[in-house]
Amino acid sequence: MVVATHRNAKLIIDRNALYKNILSEKQHLNKDDALFMVVKANGYGHGAIEVAKTAVKAGANGFCVAMLDEALELRHAGFKQPILILGISRVEDVQLIAKENISVTVSSLEWLKDAQNLLRSTDNTLKVHLGLDTGMGRIGFQNPDDLKAAIDYINNCKNLFFEGVFTHFATADEKDKTYFNFQLKKFKEFMTVVKVKPRYVHVSNSATSLWHSECNGNMVRYGVAGYGLNPSGGAVKLPYELYPALSLTSEIVNCKLVKSGNSIGYGATYTTNDNEWIGTVPVGYADGVIRKMQGFNLLVNGYKCPIVGRVCMDQLMIKLPTQMKTGTKVTIVGKSGDHKTTLQDIATYCDTIHYEVACLFTNRLKRVYIN
Ligand SMILES: *Cc1c(COP(=O)(O)O)cnc(C)c1O
Repeated sequence: MVVATHRNAKLIIDRNALYKNILSEKQHLNKDDALFMVVKANGYGHGAIEVAKTAVKAGANGFCVAMLDEALELRHAGFKQPILILGISRVEDVQLIAKENISVTVSSLEWLKDAQNLLRSTDNTLKVHLGLDTGMGRIGFQNPDDLKAAIDYINNCKNLFFEGVFTHFATADEKDKTYFNFQLKKFKEFMTVVKVKPRYVHVSNSATSLWHSECNGNMVRYGVAGYGLNPSGGAVKLPYELYPALSLTSEIVNCKLVKSGNSIGYGATYTTNDNEWIGTVPVGYADGVIRKMQGFNLLVNGYKCPIVGRVCMDQLMIKLPTQMKTGTKVTIVGKSGDHKTTLQDIATYCDTIHYEVACLFTNRLKRVYIN
């Protein structure tokens, strides 16, 4: 998908906001704890490379990504820091992964055996983080015996190196701590078989670090909070202030008075019941402004202007309070006058989470970095 550089619509990413959030987290940690900035999914839609650059300036010690290609993007951009792939990698890629000094998450002994077989004839060492399934039910070893077998195997293989052990909490962003404590107890049971601790023991995503800092281990996988978003969506209060880094603006490209009784958009789902000023904005669901946003208020000169009719692929229509010049700025996410729209506002409206809203923005939207 091409980046639309000739259209007035852009995601504006405030580096200073990212910087402040990451710095606050560094100050929230113990002095020797490592912060790995999570930049998967193109840095939660913010742009992985630019986020990574700012993260390093703010003191990040490494990165987490979801998959190999995201790790390679960082290496190709020149980042030398540790990178951990959080998902399961294809075993046939181990030579490349090891050569690029990327760390992998491993969930089974079979994978380790296959990896060792592929690496045996080389001088490469693969850095391994063993994932533990303490109740997330996604990936990870299921019990301490299997974990112990994996550690013993790694310690007998010249091409494998036990660099880390970790788990992931399913409910760290909730007020009720019952399930969190259940997972923590299981984690501690697992850890009884880890006789020699690896370099990194880590359990914390943003929510765990913010609200359960007593069990941070010695590294955090800092994601959504770095982008300035409260992992709980606002349900739980933050220990330090976060600054949202992303705004999305466009402009009115067409403005007209529509007589009462005329319909707007596909399906003719909206009909004016007065003479109404209707503005057209050149963004649509192909940019990640999804059809579910029909009815959501965009901001124009500090006015709330609802999306009327269905969101099209590349355009949408809003109801304006008065005539507006073409070229008037439209704020989809961010501040305008006394109002502001957050990713959480969109998430609430669309019945999802801000993480998903940020990831929806496609590459057709140009990303502009400020500060
Ligand atoms: C995505 C992810 C994180 C980061 O989570 P946030 O809630 O964004 O901080 C941490 N750990 C794992 C395993 C993840 O998949």
